[in-house]
Amino acid sequence: MKKVLITGAAGFLGSHLCDRFIKEGMFVIGMDNLITGDMDNIAHLMGHEQFEFVQYDVTKFVHVSGDLDYILHFASPASPIDYLKIPIQTLKVGSLAIHHLLGLAKEKNARLLIASTSEVYGDPTVHPQTEDYWGNVNPVGPRGVYDEAKRFQEAMTMAYHRYHGVETRIVRIFNTYGPRMRMNDGRVLPAFIGQALRGEDITIFGDGSQTRSFCYVDDLVEGIYRLLMSDYVEPVNIGNPDEITIAEFAEEIIKLTGTNQKVVYKDLPVDDPKQRRPDISLAQKVLGWEPKVSRADGLRITYESFKKLPKEKLFRVEH
Ligand code: NAD
Ligand code: UDP
Repeated sequence: MKKVLITGAAGFLGSHLCDRFIKEGMFVIGMDNLITGDMDNIAHLMGHEQFEFVQYDVTKFVHVSGDLDYILHFASPASPIDYLKIPIQTLKVGSLAIHHLLGLAKEKNARLLIASTSEVYGDPTVHPQTEDYWGNVNPVGPRGVYDEAKRFQEAMTMAYHRYHGVETRIVRIFNTYGPRMRMNDGRVLPAFIGQALRGEDITIFGDGSQTRSFCYVDDLVEGIYRLLMSDYVEPVNIGNPDEITIAEFAEEIIKLTGTNQKVVYKDLPVDDPKQRRPDISLAQKVLGWEPKVSRADGLRITYESFKKLPKEKLFRVEH
């Protein structure tokens, strides 16, 4: 049985990846220090014969006994309010942790895939974003802790690949949503749906003309699985190119939830990217991948799952 280490396993994406790799017949070691994760995301896996959970901070030396085939590094605060609250941990998990994990991959002869992000493009001046665009990032702005950690992580990964011959893969993930997102992580989808469910006003930052392109989690997981199994080493964008303004997105959530709350406008966060849409030609070409789930379907599934959340999760808001 193939063995895979998934860091950030108790998080939104990590937990869905655990499910997928178990389904593929692999043994999954899920590692997480729970700084932004939630054990409820993997509660259904506890006691499963193909799953082991290790509570551990991967910025420290990482040891795994026995053979290891794959490593997926997904540990990192991922939402703006998280990484603004814990900036040093964000920088450390993108730098110290990837160094340990690349060392582990080298020792075990394992293939390592890192979760990079569309944030490496910063506030992009090229639209849609292709992988050969180098980005427009403010290194010393508040978002720099996340963007630069991810850029360093990519550089370190390529260095280990070129210098030590470690097998590596880099996925640049664009805004992804679905069940198990944390209701209070501040990202726009849980923010809007949470506000609708709590009967609060819908908060648009800026004038709402900024764009994002939202990918349903199952599509992303499929793209990641294909990339890991491919022989493509350079970064690959995985995301849904269906672009929408945040104002239009708010309208969609209002219609979906039937809320009669009003929209209120708040200040746009510093360095908030004005537009974002992945060019997925490369993923189509090298992975034969493209998203399948429409935003209408994905939002419906996500809304249904949020409606089932216990009150204490729905009302736990941090801003
Ligand atoms: P998440 O916050 O739900 O999950 C991250 C997990 O990592 C959490 O469970 C957290 O406890 C864990 N973690 C953080 N620091 C750790 C450490 N030092 N040691 C061990 N565990 C640690 O976020 P997510 O949305 O699931 O994001 C997962 C990964 O995907 C991140 O690397 C993120 O940068 C990347 N990503 C996500 C998106 C998205 O739209 N969701 C977009 C681009 C990139
Ligand atoms: N946003 C908003 N209202 C909110 C939360 C976010 O208008 O309550 C905006 C935010 O300013 C950004 C977009 O929605 O322009 C997406 O934000 P998110 O934090 O989800 O992701 P990111 O900015 O990292 O793409």
